[in-house]
Amino acid sequence: MVAAAAERVVAELREACAAPAARLNEVAAAMEAEMRAGLREEGGSKIKMIISYVDNLPTGNEEGFFYALDLGGTNFRVLRVQLAGKETRVAKRESKEVSIPPHLMSGNASELFGFIASALAAFVADEGRNQLFQGKQRELGFTFSFPVRQTSIASGTLIKWTKAFSIDDAVGEDVGAELQTAMEKHGVDMRVSALINDTVGTLAAGRYNDEDVVIGVILGTGSNAAYVEEASAIPKFEGELPKSGNMVINTEWGNFSSSCLPITEYDQALDDESLNPGEQIFEKLISGMYLGEIVRRVLLKIASQSTLFGKVNHTKLKTRFILRTPDISAMHHDETPDLKIVAEKLAENLKIKDTSLETRKMVVEICDIVTSRSARLAAAGIVGILRKIGRAVPGDERRSVIAIDGGLFEHYAEFRQCLESTLVELLGEEASRSVAVKLTKDGSGLGAALIAAAHSQCQ
Ligand code: ADP
Ligand code: MG
Repeated sequence: MVAAAAERVVAELREACAAPAARLNEVAAAMEAEMRAGLREEGGSKIKMIISYVDNLPTGNEEGFFYALDLGGTNFRVLRVQLAGKETRVAKRESKEVSIPPHLMSGNASELFGFIASALAAFVADEGRNQLFQGKQRELGFTFSFPVRQTSIASGTLIKWTKAFSIDDAVGEDVGAELQTAMEKHGVDMRVSALINDTVGTLAAGRYNDEDVVIGVILGTGSNAAYVEEASAIPKFEGELPKSGNMVINTEWGNFSSSCLPITEYDQALDDESLNPGEQIFEKLISGMYLGEIVRRVLLKIASQSTLFGKVNHTKLKTRFILRTPDISAMHHDETPDLKIVAEKLAENLKIKDTSLETRKMVVEICDIVTSRSARLAAAGIVGILRKIGRAVPGDERRSVIAIDGGLFEHYAEFRQCLESTLVELLGEEASRSVAVKLTKDGSGLGAALIAAAHSQCQ
């Protein structure tokens, strides 16, 4: 018998995480309302609805060599692609990954950009004697996955660092210009043609392969979404409307919050103890950085209220972020009859040994509750965007494709399946037939090169 106290904790969790269709429809409606408020005026909503200045997405006709640079994690990547039009598409792709020395992540901006520019210089040097550019200006798409206030397609000021970066003198500076200056200092003859976010890159890479892609979503360490908006539907947009009539909006939906979100005591505590309390509430409910941590908090509560895990030393169980989302994914997908993988993960990560089969089943259920809530909320966010742009609603016959990138979506099958089935549940069988979700992996590299190409002055 599983101890009654533990069962109660799980029952309360199930109740507090419940996200039935009616509630998800409220979440979608709240997301749509916040999107409208954010488009109306600067600071009109918790979600920033950043104008990306990307008004042209790739068509497949792009030709020539383009560079891309992807900065957003511990590694950065440089990429050179040869685009060869509709038939051949990407004729050649070369890339190099470089890890960033930790001291540069908290040093000063000119050191970081200098390091990046010198790596880029080395990469450009092995174009060799092929004369790829024959006097033509090299162009680069720069994926910079931190919040940026865009000022044009190729410039924008850094709002704040996130993840492991904290370089004070870069905040408020134009990151496109910083890179451009560093490249000039290092003798790299190249122009920053586009400064984008990974979500926008995912949208572009998706569109390149499928012209019906209208939304790009990141479900990885963090979460965000970008989509194609009608430029005339953005009241805060100043200046001449783009010829295409379209504008890609980077929603920054991670900062969405609403009283209709199913938030538990565990989420509350996680947020209170986080680096950014009160911020990124939606992201904290759905993204890969947090799911394992939520499960750990539930297990700790069970350990403190029952003897289910036996006499264990709780030091590990009290260590924040010790249980990672890939661990809960492995437990959730355990198909061995005696849940051997669950037993191993509990022992390895949390020093919880000698669990009964019933206890392991309960742990799997906790993973399922937390992950289902996450996937269902992500689906509700997507539905909010679809409704905002009049897609997959009665009378709309168009096909709508959502390009999704990120380790959570890519590797966590239960999450992915739940997200897809929830979309059908919310949109209805009929409408969801014209909606498709596609894993789109190279947004931050190829996507940036494609946007540079689509906005090239040389085309
Ligand atoms: P990032 O979001 O940092 O650019 P990724 O898109 O590669 O990086 O996503 C990495 C995140 O994906 C990890 O932080 C983790 O939360 C999640 N993830 C990676 N592997 C798995 C897995 N096997 N199961 C579930 N989640 C995973
Ligand atoms: Mg990424």
